[in-house]
Amino acid sequence: MKKTKMTQLPIAVFILITLAVLGIIIFQTYWTVNAYRINKEKFDTSVNIAMQKAMDDCKKDYFDSIRRVLLTRLSPPGTIIKIDTLHDQDIANALLIIHISDKYSGSMSPFNTTVPRFNFYKKKLSYNATIPAVLTEMSFFEPGLMNSFTVLLGMHDIQQHSAQLMAFAKAHPDASGDAIRKFTHSIPNSIYELPPNYEAAASHKVWWYLKRELDKRHIYSPFGVFASKQNMPRFKSNTHYTATAVYPYKYQGFTLFNISGPVIYIGAVFHKPQYAIIKNMLFSLVLSVSLILFTIYCFYYVARTIINQKKLADLKDDFINNMTHELKTPIATMTVAIEGLQKFNVLSDPEKTERYLQTSRNELSRLNDLVTKVLDIAAFENKEINLDKENVNINDLVADVIQSEKSKTNKTVDMIFINKEEVELINTDKLHFRNVLLNIVDNAVKYSSEPVDIVISCYKNSNFLVFSVKDNGIGIPSDHIGQIFDKFHRVPTGNIHSVKGTGLGLSYVKYIAEAHGGTVTVKSEINKGSEFIVSIPLADG
Ligand code: ADP
Repeated sequence: MKKTKMTQLPIAVFILITLAVLGIIIFQTYWTVNAYRINKEKFDTSVNIAMQKAMDDCKKDYFDSIRRVLLTRLSPPGTIIKIDTLHDQDIANALLIIHISDKYSGSMSPFNTTVPRFNFYKKKLSYNATIPAVLTEMSFFEPGLMNSFTVLLGMHDIQQHSAQLMAFAKAHPDASGDAIRKFTHSIPNSIYELPPNYEAAASHKVWWYLKRELDKRHIYSPFGVFASKQNMPRFKSNTHYTATAVYPYKYQGFTLFNISGPVIYIGAVFHKPQYAIIKNMLFSLVLSVSLILFTIYCFYYVARTIINQKKLADLKDDFINNMTHELKTPIATMTVAIEGLQKFNVLSDPEKTERYLQTSRNELSRLNDLVTKVLDIAAFENKEINLDKENVNINDLVADVIQSEKSKTNKTVDMIFINKEEVELINTDKLHFRNVLLNIVDNAVKYSSEPVDIVISCYKNSNFLVFSVKDNGIGIPSDHIGQIFDKFHRVPTGNIHSVKGTGLGLSYVKYIAEAHGGTVTVKSEINKGSEFIVSIPLADG
């Protein structure tokens, strides 16, 4: 008889599956890393464009505020603007001489332009644009005009504070141009005024403009804006860090053309851009992880199917070996009995003849049992069983089982039955339920060494009647307990070879118990014994 082998995945299949899974994981990882890199580059480009836009917005905002200041300061009555036209020229090229003065700084030197130029800016704004508005617009394109305005308005502001400036110049006779400029920057409400915290103000402004741009692009990664008086090299971006280019920022105070204000250098850094990038890639990441999991599941499924197939093939081999053995034994015994009858003239001895015939009958009955068992199981496979239920007397049924088992075995067996609650009847299919008890008791005898002690007990448990068959046999290893009710499963222990069996008995027991709406369970301890517990619903009444 062949010993049941441990069922394992063939090593070549295992290696192939592992390699395939590893390959897919490596490919997916490579793809994901590459996708991250590309997304990071896209992110870097986007934040740089956003930063440029933010700087452009700051510039625009700055020009707007200068426009506002100029327009207010150039408007009468504070400032008087007079325009002379020289009529000796043809109208297309007529010269315009613009005189501007205010009450503190007097007048600035006249600024000359032509009628068409003036009209060009006027048209650019609107036909109704006021003269200060046209001059303001013009000053952005005519450095001379802007220069004159800056000087005129600056002079005005300085003269408002001339006493302080004089005191400052007196206290700092060697004051450099820078120091004087600083003084002018500190004159409140003057066009040169710079807030003391202009760096912080500038970076705050850039931060807001940048945030607005990033929001437009759906980039919500936290960032900081830094400002410095010194120009600095751009920080290098890497896979988990992003820095924008550094931009010169000169949009503070009234620092146009030749009045140079302080330049600061501004950039933005993103310390943890990876979260935003990964969030962007979430869909493809989830897809790739699902793909990996799905592939692993597919391979697991294939491996499990192969293992099951192999297990089935092993079980089939074992079953054929067992059956061959089971069939050959009675055939051999009967052959010997018939030979004895024929050759050794035993027919004249009625007692011997009777013994030989009895032996042959017993063997035939065993053969019949075996064939019935196999056929029954095959039949149950294909169709629902029809139970022919009746009220059966429990004591009689168990007594019959004990009697039948005792007559079958050559072992010294002590079997007792305890009907704890003296339950009398059970509603069951008599034939099948007798077979169930017989199978369990037969196993208890088969898998125990002498002297065999078997206790059969019966008691009520809520709506169920419980039959327990306890033996003092070899026990069942814990890793096989879950499988002994499977078809063809036999515990592959060394001494099992001496015990005949098909591996079908317990699967039949389970089938019948469940068909009754009941259960079968087992408790077992190696070398101490086993207890099989069959519960079936109680007979009505
Ligand atoms: P078999 O024809 O091999 O007895 P069964 O389906 O009746 O088939 O039992 C399945 C296996 O369960 C047996 O081969 C045996 O290893 C184990 N087994 C069943 N009953 C007992 C028991 N009372 N004690 C120890 N092992 C048992």
